[in-house]
Amino acid sequence: MSAPLLLADGLTVRCGGTVIVLNADFAVEPGAVLAISGPAGAGKSLLLRAAAGLLPPGTVADGHVSYPERLALVPQGARLTPHRTLGAQFAEVLGGDTQARAVLALERLEVPMAARRLSFYPHELPEGLRVRAALALALASDPQVLLADAPGAGLDPTVRARLLWLLAAWARERRVGLVIAGRDAAAPADRVLHLDLGRLGQPPEPGESPEAAPSAGGAPVLSVRDLRVAFPVGRTWLGGTRWLNVVEGVGFELAEGETAALLGETGSGKAMVARAVLRLMPAAGGRVAWHGRDLLTLDEPAMRHERRDVQALFPDPRAALDPLRSVGEHVAETHAALVPEEDAALRPVRVTDALSRAGLPLAAADLYPAALTVGEAARVGLARALVTHPGLLVCDEPTASLDAADREALVGHLLHLQGQQRTTLVLATEDAALAFRTAHRVLVLLAGRVVEEADPATLRADARHPYTQALLAVAEGRKPELRGDPPSALRLPGGCPLRLRCPRAADVCADSVPVLETVRPGHRVACHRWDEPEVG
Ligand code: SF4
Repeated sequence: MSAPLLLADGLTVRCGGTVIVLNADFAVEPGAVLAISGPAGAGKSLLLRAAAGLLPPGTVADGHVSYPERLALVPQGARLTPHRTLGAQFAEVLGGDTQARAVLALERLEVPMAARRLSFYPHELPEGLRVRAALALALASDPQVLLADAPGAGLDPTVRARLLWLLAAWARERRVGLVIAGRDAAAPADRVLHLDLGRLGQPPEPGESPEAAPSAGGAPVLSVRDLRVAFPVGRTWLGGTRWLNVVEGVGFELAEGETAALLGETGSGKAMVARAVLRLMPAAGGRVAWHGRDLLTLDEPAMRHERRDVQALFPDPRAALDPLRSVGEHVAETHAALVPEEDAALRPVRVTDALSRAGLPLAAADLYPAALTVGEAARVGLARALVTHPGLLVCDEPTASLDAADREALVGHLLHLQGQQRTTLVLATEDAALAFRTAHRVLVLLAGRVVEEADPATLRADARHPYTQALLAVAEGRKPELRGDPPSALRLPGGCPLRLRCPRAADVCADSVPVLETVRPGHRVACHRWDEPEVG
């Protein structure tokens, strides 16, 4: 084995009087990829900075670190200088004639038309390309060790995962020592270390991942048919309104206690479907029948009454909390708004019941939002949703802001609701692993349309759509085959909306938008080439 390029021995990081990292040991050899996992706030960023000798003021490190002459650190959310072109920024970092090296580094990270991009300012690039350009600056500087802190953290899963695989392939080929901190880094890494409570060590053994119990079946209680959502985006030349269709013809049915996952990334329309089902945004057409009542046609008082039974869980649990109100007041307020006729004296009992069903101790009722962790705030959101004992819970990215432990806890609560209380769930998510664990039916959405639907077992074994296959690859720790970024909803390519990213795209894909076809009963796919054998 080669001598390590980066070696940390007994590295301790302190911030004020607090120990953030205690006695961390690790080594990175040429061409090795080390992933550092850990919950949010564990100190991964400070560990990387300490390894690079770049700690912020007020933070000190003890112990021994040796690193090579050429080391690059790409901090989380690394930004380009807004008023300088990409080319100027490469020139500043590299000096001299940089064009060829800059283009090579950009192409390595699959930036299309790399040479042309050098004359662009950062604001002229989409977010995915900005992130890749910031990383390419580090690649072009020819480091011996690259420390990348949560690279691509805000990008879609297929884009982020592919970026990590590209970085790992570059490091192995160039014999660079690569350390990646953050989510999803484990998949392309040779080794994973886990940082938690100040200790860097082996990652915990993956525990049991409970899944949805099989459906008991029964008559549908929720029936969504031909749902459409559209936004006005301007005027036609005849003076009429020009509409952008963001959801087109989505439909599904659920029996009591069943779960449908709406799986897709940015611009897929999953959140729009969830909000239209909740009637938080107007639908342009279709039907959402809950126990036979079409929610889209109810008047306001009737819909308000219906909201006792049709509740929502949103992605940013803190955003919905008023910092000046206690947890108990928040839950009681929801109950009072939706069940105003009930005796107010009973409200504390309702609050207590909701908190316990959401897995919070009763003492949490007296806490204020500032005292809550993100995971606790998510459970307050769940308690508010459960206080009226809804039969239908529509969840929009409920675990997006949670770390692994909090995510598991919330999934456990959702599965309990589904299995024990027969709550019907609609789950909008970009996390295929979550969708496949919790749902009885998965609808994969792309550019506002369902492109594949089936039960999770069928999709795990025989996903036919390249987009489903890419989402599955991310969930299973493989490299997704889609290239580039999702197109803007305002500039979709003609024909199949995936065709500029799809590894199987052919001329036929530009002809028309594919429609859903039946692969077998219960499994449908919208792809012009779903029944052609894959080559390779
Ligand atoms: S229709 Fe063509 S571009 Fe679209 S997913 Fe199928 S193969 Fe890919």
